[in-house]
Amino acid sequence: MIHKVRVRFAPSPTGPLHIGGIRTALFNYLFAKKHQGTFVLRIEDTDQNRYVANAEKYIIDALNWCNIPFDEGPNKNEKFGPYRQSERKDIYKQYANYLIKNNKAYYAFDTTEELDFHRKDYEAKKKTFIYNWHNRKKLNNSLTLTEKKIENRIKNGDKYVIRFKTPTNQTLIMQDIIRGEIKIDTNVLDDKILFKSDGMPTYHLANIVDDHLMKISHVIRGEEWLPSMALHILLYKAFDWKVPEFAHLPLILKPTGKGKLSKRDGDKLGFPVFPLAYLNQETNETSRGYKEEGYFNDALINMLAFLGWNPGTEQEIFSLDTLVQKFNLQKVNKAGARFDLDKTKWFQQQYLQQKSNATLAKLFKHDLDNREDSHFHRNNNLVYITKVVSLIKERAIFVSDFWNLSSFFFLAPTKFDTKATKKVWKEGTAKLMQELILVLNEISNFSSKNVETVVKGWITKKEIGFGKVMQPFRLSLVGAMQGPHLFDIINMLGKKETISRIRFAINYL
Ligand code: GLU
Repeated sequence: MIHKVRVRFAPSPTGPLHIGGIRTALFNYLFAKKHQGTFVLRIEDTDQNRYVANAEKYIIDALNWCNIPFDEGPNKNEKFGPYRQSERKDIYKQYANYLIKNNKAYYAFDTTEELDFHRKDYEAKKKTFIYNWHNRKKLNNSLTLTEKKIENRIKNGDKYVIRFKTPTNQTLIMQDIIRGEIKIDTNVLDDKILFKSDGMPTYHLANIVDDHLMKISHVIRGEEWLPSMALHILLYKAFDWKVPEFAHLPLILKPTGKGKLSKRDGDKLGFPVFPLAYLNQETNETSRGYKEEGYFNDALINMLAFLGWNPGTEQEIFSLDTLVQKFNLQKVNKAGARFDLDKTKWFQQQYLQQKSNATLAKLFKHDLDNREDSHFHRNNNLVYITKVVSLIKERAIFVSDFWNLSSFFFLAPTKFDTKATKKVWKEGTAKLMQELILVLNEISNFSSKNVETVVKGWITKKEIGFGKVMQPFRLSLVGAMQGPHLFDIINMLGKKETISRIRFAINYL
């Protein structure tokens, strides 16, 4: 029988999600949707010291912006809720107690000082202190105390944690969908703390209790959790629960050099590592976000899908729907996936080119309306802007590039590129431009094609090089030697504006 697919994304709200977190969420989302399953968001906020108040909102906003919303989670379809671990506190204690009762966990009363002492003692002997089968009987815990004594110590208010009594002398054989079979000798594991002295469970206990209670079928998460897999499986076994399937996603590596992409790399290397900008309320510093830098959400998602996965074909552009169809956990790589800023920009460029001129024009109009000089813009309407976009978009990566590529469609140049002027505005140019004005004045059909035919005909008849006219002509209209096909510009500006710009250039230069 195929069980219903239920996966979860379980971030800790310790700050903004970095794009690695979004990639984990994405792979969970794709897997869930592919199998008509459910994508759950669970907020793992058991570590009160690292809790950041606005992080949960950030996480939810980011998933929504990326268009990968969760099906169940805080304040949404709370069938298995609550979905914040801090609101599930009472649940975990029962399970910790169950393990103690069944001799699978024990109370440990060791103080920080005692543990420090042991650590230093081991270090002096060039060994590492591990709290497990080989020394647990010699340490300060309930394994060597009578029930009465344990009860008294707890009643006295002695601080304790609950540790897992890791089974000994077993070779644990585990399966990971991406990594295959992994074997581990349980004797090398330590007796991890499951329940802390502050009355909160640790990540390990809360995580597996919740995955069980929320009926999670597949645990898909980052490679950094691979070392916890053995403990988690042993815990499922200790409870006699069905073990979910596991898939540990490859790390996302820095663009160059060693190590994984970290939250700090964004500021260091000059590109965003967060989906949305984030204001750190403690330091009042804002980190850059993909959204605010002008990336499209679908471009970011497409790029992230390829960090660790590929369809096995040449195709690189995938809508979210096709990603859902094509995605396959088995095809996820084991090796770390290197983040590549140029590739990210390439995806953005592809998505920008794919968008309709009308869609882009709306976005561009928004930018135009927000400019200080917007009052002076000519033809600031969507029909005109859509045409402008059609002429310049192939050179753009972001909508924010549009202005630099097209300002002359909205504002007449008031100064001229010095280098270009030196190169193209020679002796005799002014006179030529005067003549050009006369030629243009005679044209009644100002279509791009017609103006081109007439002007080129006139140049040919004069037996001078095209450049002699066309270059200063462009400089007059644009202010620099850039822009799309000159006759398309002329057509957009119209006769009056075209002539007036040439006149201005003649007077100015
Ligand atoms: N709370 C963990 C994290 O922050 C979740 C790990 C897991 O998915 O099991 O990534």
